[in-house]
Amino acid sequence: MEFEQSNFIGREAVAAKRKQYFYPCTAHFYRDAPQLVRGSMQYVYDENGKEYTDFFAGVSVVACGHCNPAITSRTIAQLQQLQHTSPIYLTQPNVDLAERLEEVLPGALRRTFFVNSGSEANEGALLLARMHTGRKGFIALEAGLHGRTNLTMSVTGLQMWRTDAYLDEDVTFIKRPYHPELTLEEAAAQSIQNLKEVLAAQGDTIAAMIVEPIQGNGGIVMPVLSYFREVKALLEQYGVLLIDDEIQTGYGRSGAMFAMEHFGVVPDIISMAKALGNGVPIAAFSTTDEIAASLNKPSASTFGGNPVSAATALAVLDYIRDERLAERAAELGGQLKQGLLALQKRYPALITDVRGSGLMLGAELAGSETEDAAAVTDYVLEELKDRGYLIGKNGIGRNVLAFQPPLVVNSGNIDALLAALHEVLQAIH
Ligand code: PMP
Repeated sequence: MEFEQSNFIGREAVAAKRKQYFYPCTAHFYRDAPQLVRGSMQYVYDENGKEYTDFFAGVSVVACGHCNPAITSRTIAQLQQLQHTSPIYLTQPNVDLAERLEEVLPGALRRTFFVNSGSEANEGALLLARMHTGRKGFIALEAGLHGRTNLTMSVTGLQMWRTDAYLDEDVTFIKRPYHPELTLEEAAAQSIQNLKEVLAAQGDTIAAMIVEPIQGNGGIVMPVLSYFREVKALLEQYGVLLIDDEIQTGYGRSGAMFAMEHFGVVPDIISMAKALGNGVPIAAFSTTDEIAASLNKPSASTFGGNPVSAATALAVLDYIRDERLAERAAELGGQLKQGLLALQKRYPALITDVRGSGLMLGAELAGSETEDAAAVTDYVLEELKDRGYLIGKNGIGRNVLAFQPPLVVNSGNIDALLAALHEVLQAIH
């Protein structure tokens, strides 16, 4: 089926317009990038009707599948009934959503503030921590990513995303619980030691530590399961809050509703975004009654939790529960991880590590004789795209293949992707 649209311009013209009208900071994947025009569950289609199985879900967003009718029907119904008022008026979708979130949030977390993006959710979480503790400083992990606003960029450890030369200096980065030359246990011990030193020196000036339970952009890095329990216990000794950034991991992707559940830790504040709206912008930060009481000066977000986004997020939570997507992610993630590990066994010089949980998996690549690891990664992405598979890439060296598909992919999709990846690796080999 050819895509028909009266003002259709095609991939070259789209790329040219981006060059002409966007800022130079805006990049897109692929040398020969398709123009995506349509999506249906785990598939997207380009302007020529070519089908791609989406293994990146628009960066971990479309967990319930593209244009899933069970969700879009409720979005459209709300869009036609009442699109926007603002939190200064009483409407029902946002309060129903806050109540529904309490059911899935861990521990005593039950109060929620709605915003529009992940950066905004983390910015609010950091503000809340400052208001509650009366302290200014933050601790963050090396190679973490938390957003694009000044404060969230300040707690972002990944150099490539720290564009502002004037970031907040009251942030201390500690070693992350991962190091290519150490075991996960050794790396966690090193990180904990580093945290102890920082807390001993300045614990009484720190409001919160912000972490991703599984680092996404940092290269799909998941610490050993004891790590966050030790972190939380140390933070409590100094009255420092734990902010759990579940923006990339949230809502079943890792095989649990929130990835921090794997570690048996209840954080003080959780920030979320991406999958909550399945593509409709909505984000939030949630906390306990006690901590929420500190956010007591007027604050309002014009679009935050608007009726359309809130109705959509309610449909998303229903779908994740009814279709048991967390269990599905655990099961299918197991299949994909086994397949990636088998490929690593076959090409140990090419795939140096396979890691992650559920349907949030990464495979780290080495360079070849002629190309560095980032170039090999780009080659694999391009070749897979040509074979009909979209995957992601991340990591400090941009050399980690990222697999974060809609959680509605099936076992056959995974086998087919693995076969295509095998072909590409064989060609490099
Ligand atoms: N935190 C994490 C873990 C993220 O992955 C991202 C975005 N990739 C953000 C925060 C920022 O979210 P947004 O782009 O919606 O502002």
